[in-house]
Amino acid sequence: MVCLRSAGARHAAVAARLSAKPAGIVPDGVVNLPLGEPRFAALGPAYGQPVAALPLPDALRLYFNAALADQIGLDPRWCQSAAALPLLTGNAAWPGQTPSASVYAGHQFGVWVSQLGDGRVLTLAEWRAPDGSPVELQLKGAGPTPYARGSDGRATLASSVRELLACEALHALGVPTTRALSLAGSSLSVQRDELDTAAVLGRTAPCFVRFGHFEFHARHGTPQQLALLADHVIEHHFPYLANQPQRHAAWLAEVVELTAALFAHWQTLGFCHGVLNTDNLSVLGLTLDYGPYGFMERFRPHHVCNASDHEGRYAYTAQPAIGRWNCERLLGACAGLLAPQPEAAREQAQALLARYDEVYRQEVMRRWRAKLGLREARAGDAGLLNRWLTLLQRGKADFTLAFRRLADAIQIDPAEALICLPAGQDAALRDWLDDWRARLASEGGSPAGRASAMRRVNPRYVLRNHLAQAAIEGAQRGSSVELHRLLAVLARPFDEQPGAEHYAAPPAQGLELELEIGCSA
Ligand code: AMP
Ligand code: MG
Repeated sequence: MVCLRSAGARHAAVAARLSAKPAGIVPDGVVNLPLGEPRFAALGPAYGQPVAALPLPDALRLYFNAALADQIGLDPRWCQSAAALPLLTGNAAWPGQTPSASVYAGHQFGVWVSQLGDGRVLTLAEWRAPDGSPVELQLKGAGPTPYARGSDGRATLASSVRELLACEALHALGVPTTRALSLAGSSLSVQRDELDTAAVLGRTAPCFVRFGHFEFHARHGTPQQLALLADHVIEHHFPYLANQPQRHAAWLAEVVELTAALFAHWQTLGFCHGVLNTDNLSVLGLTLDYGPYGFMERFRPHHVCNASDHEGRYAYTAQPAIGRWNCERLLGACAGLLAPQPEAAREQAQALLARYDEVYRQEVMRRWRAKLGLREARAGDAGLLNRWLTLLQRGKADFTLAFRRLADAIQIDPAEALICLPAGQDAALRDWLDDWRARLASEGGSPAGRASAMRRVNPRYVLRNHLAQAAIEGAQRGSSVELHRLLAVLARPFDEQPGAEHYAAPPAQGLELELEIGCSA
């Protein structure tokens, strides 16, 4: 049986096992900031290098996440103070901390790249939150690092707004993700496909270690170097595994399970990451590095959200297999940590990949079932789901709204339900609705209770491209009003929000915004 802890329980377990030292404090002249506790940076020069941030000209505060600040132990008064902006843009140094960039490698679109790294990201500070859990604060777009490979080290305002919106939207949907703490715009121009201005995003996570970090040290470092990195991750993020006899294998099993669970969650929300390279996969199972992602609108299994992905390698339907492929790369890099003999390591890796399949299957069906309002697992569930998805595909239905409307169809009469469900296949849809209703009835329970349970897992509001685009265009004019409005709606994705109906709607027909979102950011 799969025993998968929820992210909340896992983090609670981590927090409880960490010696919950009270956060020290360093006066910064206005209020107190948490005392830094370099963790990753303390690993040494083989893992990264100190880098000074490049100042951001005419920094303009566009966003500050006060709720997140409070949760991670930053004083909200400081957030509102004039002292915060320079620190969160790289225009002033964080007291007592040396910013650094880390080196990693990765498979990009399936091709091995032997050196990548934080090219435009630096870790500004690491500390413990009031609940004892580790916090790492990064600035994205604060200038080039030794791993910039000739690029400018900057991030466009458009791509920064997109990362901010997506990670906060996914967080509100309950998906593990890195978080956005702050966003500042600037007068500095940056040239990509189009001319934009630069921005600096402050983002946090317990840590930003990627599969690619392990691939780098497996290829270029010593076995001890690789083991040190694994022990670092275990000590700070999986401390309950530290005393296990086979701690590295136990940890890799957790990474594989977390990854499978994350991908299952994405699939049932129609979320497409867009660039599932191994350097964009977190060893904590967080959604990381938001490039040309998309919440699928019209349901198309082969939907590709990244205009640069000509082969459809990262299409919606391909994501789960890509998650497995990426785990295979991680397990290959960590073979020496699994077992000293290659044959034994290979066998263990195969067992862990089978575990990926098992966890993915169980998690994805658990979530699909909940979306359909089914409480019990029964043999015909996959068939019922597939018939429904086929109806959505043929009816060119909006993925999010079709599931949301299904909750309404529990309580209204079938003829009315047909009006609000995928169009053009009335007979097939009526048959399906009959079967689905019969299945629900056979489980018992009140229709109202079931409908409200469905509304708790089928969001009404997701981040649609045209909504993100409106927030970006506002920010490009120096206004964060639309950004804040949209974030407020996305913070309560499952609630009916009177007055916010237009945020739930797909783009008007004929005006569908065909945004070409590629890798340049
Ligand atoms: P991404 O596609 O954003 O995941 O980036 C892939 C790699 O390219 C990472 O190593 C990034 O740090 C690096 N990179 C992307 N854009 C820039 C940039 N403008 N300046 C420096 N490095 C960059
Ligand atoms: Mg990346």
